[in-house]
Amino acid sequence: MNNQPENLMVLDLDALASNLDYTKHRAGSEKRMIASIKANAYGHDVSLIAGALHEKRVDMLATGNIDDARILRACGVDTPLLLFAYATAENTVNAAKEGFISTIPNLTSAISLDAMTSVPIPVYLKIDCGLGRLGAPLSIAKDFVTKVFQLKNLKIEGIYTHVPFSDVASSPWAQGKLDQFDKLVEELESNGYSIPVTQAMGSCCVLAGLRDKSNAVCVGHALYGLSPFSSEQASTAQHLRPVVHSVSSTLIHIGHHKKGSDIATGGLYGTESAHNVGVIPLGLAMGMRAPIGNKEMVVLVKGKRCQIMAVSLEHITINLDNVENVDIGDRVTIIGREGDESISLQELACVWQVTPLQALMSMSGRFSVRSI
Ligand SMILES: *Cc1c(COP(=O)(O)O)cnc(C)c1O
Repeated sequence: MNNQPENLMVLDLDALASNLDYTKHRAGSEKRMIASIKANAYGHDVSLIAGALHEKRVDMLATGNIDDARILRACGVDTPLLLFAYATAENTVNAAKEGFISTIPNLTSAISLDAMTSVPIPVYLKIDCGLGRLGAPLSIAKDFVTKVFQLKNLKIEGIYTHVPFSDVASSPWAQGKLDQFDKLVEELESNGYSIPVTQAMGSCCVLAGLRDKSNAVCVGHALYGLSPFSSEQASTAQHLRPVVHSVSSTLIHIGHHKKGSDIATGGLYGTESAHNVGVIPLGLAMGMRAPIGNKEMVVLVKGKRCQIMAVSLEHITINLDNVENVDIGDRVTIIGREGDESISLQELACVWQVTPLQALMSMSGRFSVRSI
């Protein structure tokens, strides 16, 4: 008896390495690589992913979550770690003591942080090029950066912005933002303010082939084989390989229901024919969803596509009428390949009418995760 967990996600770390190589190639080998591992590495498992990226010697890892940063240090990952999010001044001082680099998004936070420490703290400054989220707006960015340079306890190690877009047609808009950011950095430099790391391009800019003068890129989506673009433009990302190799569960029950019996949840009352059904211990609580509209959700059992009859809080009921010799303990593939049949993350997300990333986020942290 092997002790395979009931619910398992298997990652393909070779695909991660291949996506990293492809992304570096697209960005240009002279660029430093900052790998975004926020949100549990986009739902994949932050420890496994960061461990693999550390071995591949990316220049820096970036996350919004200090707990994740601590987990990585505890696993021996000593790649420099950037925190995307800003915390309170006190927590930022503590983060610096633990060796993490924090992001400063505005002058008020910079001033209070400077006042709270007597040892210099390394920071990255965030500029908002039009996303309207964190960062000093471009219009006041020069003033912001020069004022932070005057604060004696903050050591500016990097400056960055984020220019995401989901439609390739927005490339000229994004290129314009990159150009504005380049201009800001050039102006700062010509005034004697030199910053070691500069970064503006994420997956969409790199995959769309945009160009800038920054010396680093910060990439998430592309590393995981996820297209940052809406699906009809997926060809822009066709060289990427999915890092999720499979998501599977285990049959814990098989039932034989006569014609006219009730199979509940989803409302199959008084079925028109007899059914064999299987149950897996995976439901809404683990990020599964019911299919939307008239879409059909299927799983693979013994290499056959089998339709889902009901998704409940902690279980999914599967129609096993197509399958022979099936037993309790058999694997059920939610994403992955069995023989000639396969179900992609894309297909599952389409049945749920969400994006592949949204599908991953709902499953994030709910599976035992291993690499192939
Ligand atoms: C998430 C994030 C990135 C990476 O974006 P992708 O589209 O996943 O490549 C880059 N920069 C910042 C500031 C981010 O928050």
